[in-house]
Amino acid sequence: MSHYHPLTEQEAIDYARRLPDVFPSNAELSSREIGDGNLNLVFHITDSVSGRSLILKQALPYAKVVGESWPLSLDRSRIESEALVVQEALCPGLVPHVYTYDTELALTVMEDLSDHVIMRRGLVEGNRYPLFAEHIGHFLAHTLFYTSDWGMNQQEKKERLGRFINPDLCKITEDLIFDDPYRDAETNNIHEPIRPDVEKLWADQELLLEVAFLREKFLTHAQALLHGDLHTGSIFVTPESTKVIDPEFAYYGPMGFDIGAVLANLLLNYCGQAGWKSDQADLESFRNYLLETVEAVWTRFEQEFRALWEEKTVDRMARTPGFLDSFLARLLQDTFGFTGAKMVRRIHGLAQVADINRIEDAGVRAVAERTALHIGTALIKHNRQAADIKEMTDLARRAV
Ligand code: ADP
Ligand code: MG
Ligand code: MG
Ligand code: MG
Repeated sequence: MSHYHPLTEQEAIDYARRLPDVFPSNAELSSREIGDGNLNLVFHITDSVSGRSLILKQALPYAKVVGESWPLSLDRSRIESEALVVQEALCPGLVPHVYTYDTELALTVMEDLSDHVIMRRGLVEGNRYPLFAEHIGHFLAHTLFYTSDWGMNQQEKKERLGRFINPDLCKITEDLIFDDPYRDAETNNIHEPIRPDVEKLWADQELLLEVAFLREKFLTHAQALLHGDLHTGSIFVTPESTKVIDPEFAYYGPMGFDIGAVLANLLLNYCGQAGWKSDQADLESFRNYLLETVEAVWTRFEQEFRALWEEKTVDRMARTPGFLDSFLARLLQDTFGFTGAKMVRRIHGLAQVADINRIEDAGVRAVAERTALHIGTALIKHNRQAADIKEMTDLARRAV
């Protein structure tokens, strides 16, 4: 059974039963596959006797994309489990605990978080998460600082970087975020009402140049160990708790990419809310909540990152007056650019988001899509001038 093959539900039960010190000998285990099955299997294993449960996540050796499938390295599963271990050491309580990793089966045994909900769904339902900005700002500051050349031994950082070489999943990002949405690519999925808007963007040389610069950063700036896919579908929440899952895209890249992923998905939900809330006052209030959250995530991140840098940096030259201010100013600009890029790809690229895509009224959906394209492209074009997070929320406020 240790030879790689995708497990069946029964095999997942047998596997879980053999794990030492997890389930009692009289356990009555059941298994349910709860993943979406495009890239990975996710088995939820429960014991009706002890009430204990856990998750087995197993990578599939291919990705199903536009009807076909392309091969995908199983090594991403090791990368995911190792990233979770690094993240837990830096941010206890903010990721699921990894019990063990099975190299042969490309399978991670981890803590069951079924008492949380996926944040994208929670936001679509109109729920608020008052501690989210604090938690995710902390997560971003600690994971990005302590895996960078400013927060860890610089020789060790180079060695660690080698453990997170993730070419297959980086290529997905390079294609689906930084290339395909900006040309008439087969992977795109353009809803007809917005086709003219999309085609206009393909001809916008100013936009394309900025996307090329952002793509360059994604390809070449090995600043810190990123989560790499930090959208609201990779975040489990309750009003009291935040847990980040699914870091299979982890690699050493530009810090602003992770921060931008969070902000982009808040803004996509902001654009989609017209399709979910019918009461005008309620809509306005929820939109305000989302924009306040955007500001709070950056502000919390910056505050904690600055404090870590001032107290803990290992780099003497980085303490030179002016350096940190300049670093953060440039990071905010990157964040604007990546936020925009992460928005645009979700509108007419492959893998769209429920916040907008599931809106039933085609007219309302087209308005939401157009708004998101407008905000996304404006953020990309503005990125190298950005100086304050309020410029992002002002732009979003004016766009609806
Ligand atoms: P993928 O990489 O295929 O997107 P995810 O890690 O995002 O896989 O998991 C897919 C789904 O499985 C999640 O949306 C969630 O519903 C469920 N899931 C994943 N990890 C856990 C966990 N630790 N606890 C409970 N449910 C989980
Ligand atoms: Mg998925
Ligand atoms: Mg996922
Ligand atoms: Mg994933």
